[in-house]
Amino acid sequence: MGDNLYKERYSKRGMTEVRPMTAKVGVVPSADGSAIFETGKTKAIAVVRGPRTLHPQHMQNARTGILRVNYGMMPFSVEDRIRPGPNRRSEEISKVAEWALSSVVDLSGFPNTVVDVFIQIPQADAGTRVAGINAAAMALAHAGLPMKEMVSAIGVGKIDKTLVVDLDKYEDSLFHDGEGSTDIPVVMTSRGKEIALLQLDGKISFSEFREVVEMAKKACGDILKVQTRALHEVSGDRLQVTGGDDE
Ligand code: UDP
Repeated sequence: MGDNLYKERYSKRGMTEVRPMTAKVGVVPSADGSAIFETGKTKAIAVVRGPRTLHPQHMQNARTGILRVNYGMMPFSVEDRIRPGPNRRSEEISKVAEWALSSVVDLSGFPNTVVDVFIQIPQADAGTRVAGINAAAMALAHAGLPMKEMVSAIGVGKIDKTLVVDLDKYEDSLFHDGEGSTDIPVVMTSRGKEIALLQLDGKISFSEFREVVEMAKKACGDILKVQTRALHEVSGDRLQVTGGDDE
């Protein structure tokens, strides 16, 4: 087994400490809804358009509107330039974000329509899918779409033998030759405190998994406060964010 190689974080952050977060709503005035969410050097912008009639017609659902998410990293969001356009990773992240957000957005009042959510990452330092989902949830609420509750998301994981919250890119890439680092993006609902999405890349024992999910729950509570505050800044009391500060 050997010693634990990651007893202290290189950034001096506590093991359960999230990077500094900021959030702002209404950053794209021409959109139906928009928001920006940042943690450390990771920055995500989400823009919502819709509901509008879905074309082609055969894709319409007469019982409900549908949510469509498009995630992308900008070419210069990381040091090694990324080729523009979709790839397998961006398609996967678009799909999982769509699943997580669809579980809380209620589009049954908008049959045959689509709501498009565009998530763009101008700067990436790991945790872009969770930052993107945080921004998208705020943008959907800002668009005034019915939401059963909010969602908040965080990456947690294990670096060598230590459980940590909010891995950055450097931490994400540590010890790939040893026990490796394990990356677990978690999306939580605000009221039910249920897991709307969980992905797992790496290895972790069941007891450690339970512990790290508890760490994610706590961090999501803090993220929800940041999201709620940003939404109230633009809407005053008009917008109800369930499970937030006000409940
Ligand atoms: N990344 C990169 N090039 C890529 C994809 C990702 O440099 O083509 C970096 C970027 O900083 C990203 C991190 O690797 O945030 C982790 O990527 P991952 O696929 O784990 O998703 P994320 O943590 O961003 O949701």
